[in-house]
Amino acid sequence: MFSVQHCFRFWAAKQSFISVRPSLFCYRNFVMAEQISEECRYIDIGANLTDPMFKGFYHGKQSHEEDFDEVLQRAVNQGVKKMLVTGSNLDESRLAIKLAEEHKSLLYATVGVHPCHALDVENFPDPEQYMTEIEELAKDAKAAGTVKAFGEIGLDYARLHYAPADIQRKYFIRQLDIAEKLHLPLFLHMRDCFDDFRNILIPRLPNLPKGGVVHSFTGTMQEMHSLVSYGFSIGINGCSLKTEEGLQVVKSIPLDRIMLETDAPWCEIRPSHASSKYLDKTDSAVESVKKEKFVKGKMVRGRCEPCAISQVARVVAQLKDMEVTELCEIAWRNSIQMFSFDE
Ligand SMILES: [Zn+2]
Repeated sequence: MFSVQHCFRFWAAKQSFISVRPSLFCYRNFVMAEQISEECRYIDIGANLTDPMFKGFYHGKQSHEEDFDEVLQRAVNQGVKKMLVTGSNLDESRLAIKLAEEHKSLLYATVGVHPCHALDVENFPDPEQYMTEIEELAKDAKAAGTVKAFGEIGLDYARLHYAPADIQRKYFIRQLDIAEKLHLPLFLHMRDCFDDFRNILIPRLPNLPKGGVVHSFTGTMQEMHSLVSYGFSIGINGCSLKTEEGLQVVKSIPLDRIMLETDAPWCEIRPSHASSKYLDKTDSAVESVKKEKFVKGKMVRGRCEPCAISQVARVVAQLKDMEVTELCEIAWRNSIQMFSFDE
């Protein structure tokens, strides 16, 4: 059970005549963020919820007890209605599907091999068997309604120490073969690799009618406009909003191509980021503490959570000079349409 619900029951029993949201009682210092969540509904299209950090493990060592349910509850309290859990290799994709099965209509999964995991395939005794299993997994889970996108796939030349560029390209191309058979939208990863990414992907587009989203976008203005002209949507999180250039790019994304995400546990908005000037302390949903001083019910400093999507929305809305509720609704609609979520 969720602690916030316990908290609410206690509160409701004592004060049943007052209509108040549960987290208002638990986190009374953060009333402002609650008021926003009353009005906004979110789909976090990129949440790495299979990450061991949500079980309390950091760099292979357990620092605190698991608080996965609390993480989900905080997201729900903030207005997050759906989360797309990222699959980054075969095992992670299976785990993402398991989470989606356990949290129907709240969590959904993607299946695919992230470019930084390309060596998982290459070093597998039978790489083609690995690819077949990815395809079968995606096909079955799509039929079951738990998988809504194929990915994340793509290229990452900023982290070649995980997998060399030629191996990344090999399995990007191989997975596009699979994508052409699946009829799922693509969940794409693109970092410092625009020319190769475009040259591999664009000729395949006639066979990929569901299109896709380039998530965690950190590219240039020109790259953004180019991707939009090819029909792609752009996923925005804290990493997209890190620099002044990033803010200008996000400001220019056409509204019908904007999707919001957190990339949790990564890509939080930090005080040193250009975006932080658009936030104040009321934009934090919940107080955070260092992992060494973990307390159930509080966030862990430096570990991004899906509830932080409200901060991303606040920044993007101000860049777009519009009400945050209006921006949220646009992003909601874009995500519902691409991934065919039930409303
Ligand atoms: Zn990514």
